[in-house]
Amino acid sequence: MKAAVIRGTQNIEIEDIPTPVPRPNQVLVRIKFSALCGSDVHRFQYGMANDGSVLGHEYIGEVVQVGKDVKRFKEGDRVVGGGGTPPGDIVLPTYPNDRYSARTVGIETTRIGGFAEYVAMDDWRPLLIPNGVSDELAVLAEPTSIAVHAVRTSNFKIGDTAVVLGAGPIGLLTMQVLKAAGASSVIVSEPAPARAESARILGADVVLNPVAEDVVERVLELSGGPGVPVAFDAAAAKPTFQQGMEMVWRGGQLLVVSMAWEDVDLRTVDWIGREVEMKAAYGSQPIDWQTGLNLMSRGQLSSESMITPESFISWDDMQSSMERLIKPEEHVQMVLVP
Ligand SMILES: [Zn+2]
Repeated sequence: MKAAVIRGTQNIEIEDIPTPVPRPNQVLVRIKFSALCGSDVHRFQYGMANDGSVLGHEYIGEVVQVGKDVKRFKEGDRVVGGGGTPPGDIVLPTYPNDRYSARTVGIETTRIGGFAEYVAMDDWRPLLIPNGVSDELAVLAEPTSIAVHAVRTSNFKIGDTAVVLGAGPIGLLTMQVLKAAGASSVIVSEPAPARAESARILGADVVLNPVAEDVVERVLELSGGPGVPVAFDAAAAKPTFQQGMEMVWRGGQLLVVSMAWEDVDLRTVDWIGREVEMKAAYGSQPIDWQTGLNLMSRGQLSSESMITPESFISWDDMQSSMERLIKPEEHVQMVLVP
């Protein structure tokens, strides 16, 4: 089968590798869509993926073969490639130890991921895509689980106004999840015009431009003075950490759901002096995936303007698309069609 294989830092080769054969407890999935995640781009950009590995963890497909012990799935089932609950004797390696850090240890990488024609996985791993949820929406299930995890991890409460900094895929999904969770309004800050427009289309109540206006002042104004109870940093940009901290009211929360790989602004006097709570959300749990799929099947999430005909790329575009996503301007989401 064809696969996009990592060959050194910032280099991907399209190669022929063996098609996996499912073990008795595994299913073989033919991949239909496989989205390029910001964390794949980081692995590519900083050489964090092992030579010979295949990236990609945001994919959907069809079960084409089941091992003899598999009861949960049958041929023809539409599935997302993760989110299942592991059986009791398996511990997910999300936090291998107390000193685990994504920067020093590397982000967990499966050797053969979703930038391939087929993937074999244990039958507890995938989740069934609910009827009525389109492939274009379902391919967002993994980033949606990250957004759901961020909102569940935060102090957000129904009725709150919240700010989302950054309208990349995670920011746009966090904004939609907040609306579904009962936010009275969601303010988005985003400098790139195409991404700001996506935020508007998907229901942001206010979209601010951090290049053209003082976004902290604007949020204070919109809140009637004190700021908001919670802000989500989904940008990993140099100024957003400090901005988010200044936007929340005294004792409010900055929830960080993006990973900056370089130093960001932080004036500790603003943090400590106002007793702002800073919290991080990393990864997601099975309940976050299931909740995301539930929101999709109830029509509370949309892929409009995130997944468009221009989002879809072929094998030949993999290298150039990864390079382009190092500095994302135009595109909100790119999806390999293997
Ligand atoms: Zn991802």
